[in-house]
Amino acid sequence: MAYDYDDNNIFAKILRGEIPNDTVAENDHALAFRDIAPKAPSHVLVIPKGRYVSFDDFAANASEAEMVGFMRLCAEVCESEGISLGSGNQGFRAIANSGPHGVQEVPHFHLHIMGGRMMGPMIS
Ligand code: C5P
Repeated sequence: MAYDYDDNNIFAKILRGEIPNDTVAENDHALAFRDIAPKAPSHVLVIPKGRYVSFDDFAANASEAEMVGFMRLCAEVCESEGISLGSGNQGFRAIANSGPHGVQEVPHFHLHIMGGRMMGPMIS
């Protein structure tokens, strides 16, 4: 499947250091930073460092090392934000808006990790 990656998207610029971000955690394959317009007390975006447009692009085309790196960074964020179920916290919501119907604004795959309050209905 072909995914057309735009190197001028804002998260590509963040990865190149052209735009500042509030970094929470980082490893070889992924970066986690605070959402600039948080929708919850804890709202962190986790993005792969590779050029992936969307969740399905990442799922289909990322290497196993990239996937593991990405997922482990998500786990690290949940832990450091104090929302990990494994540490007895109240949990969180993880969302990957994908494409027009998913209302994805930035065309670089990102997972929203939101917690610190009770979430509302999922679909709107
Ligand atoms: O999933 P979607 O693409 O709609 O979300 C993009 C998110 O990126 C928004 O929540 C927006 O607040 C965030 N953003 C950011 N920093 C930027 C630009 C957008 O955290 N510089």
